[in-house]
Amino acid sequence: MPLIKTSGIILNSRPMGEYDRLVEIFSDDLGKIDGIAKGARSFKNRFGGSLEPFTHCRLGLFRKSNNSLYRIESADIIESFSRIREDLTLLLYASRMVDALRKLTPLEDPSKTLFSLLHNSLGAIVSGTPVETILFYYQIQILHIAGLGLRLDGCVRCNREMKDTKIAISMAEGGLLCTLCHDRVSGGCVVASGGTIAVIRKWQSISPHYLNRFTLSNSIRGEIKGILDMYITHITGKRLVDVQRYVNSK
Ligand SMILES: [Zn+2]
Repeated sequence: MPLIKTSGIILNSRPMGEYDRLVEIFSDDLGKIDGIAKGARSFKNRFGGSLEPFTHCRLGLFRKSNNSLYRIESADIIESFSRIREDLTLLLYASRMVDALRKLTPLEDPSKTLFSLLHNSLGAIVSGTPVETILFYYQIQILHIAGLGLRLDGCVRCNREMKDTKIAISMAEGGLLCTLCHDRVSGGCVVASGGTIAVIRKWQSISPHYLNRFTLSNSIRGEIKGILDMYITHITGKRLVDVQRYVNSK
């Protein structure tokens, strides 16, 4: 059993039995994996704080050929992103981001692009970039990278281009519907402004460095949130944490 050396970001960690922890990791070169940290629940354990959610670690792993779980031999902190765990608002936004990654990506499907997206987004959160902007961009990008991005360049059914002020987006068909095609379907659509659709479309392809050029009105922010929440729920069949609701009720 050779030692596998990689780095990864801890997505989730929960108790397993009396002494161990089951840890979900997004690894730089293995994708999303599950690992077991033996003895991680004992008072004096060799892992310290390295298995806390959002921590970026250097990892030493073992895996038996007939086992889907990796055994975590060592975990050394590269970046703790500790500010996220000290601020409830940041914690909620980062949890939502990790939740989306857990639900939208399969196990052991390596993607350097997704790893960088997660890593850069956590970095942007601790450096003070507005969290809602990061969450929107991150979700739009994750869908796009996973091949599930909304098709916003024309009607998904007839390819017609649209310049209307209000346009329907079909959750089931993953994109825009023109008025004619919309009349033929029942339900499952959200209506959004042309401005909102232009922002989402642009954010599917731009680098995060350009995000500060955008100032989004409250109505565009509300529409982007509504579309992403509904579409991700439609794809995963599960509701993700509604961060804004918690934050606004604080
Ligand atoms: Zn159409």
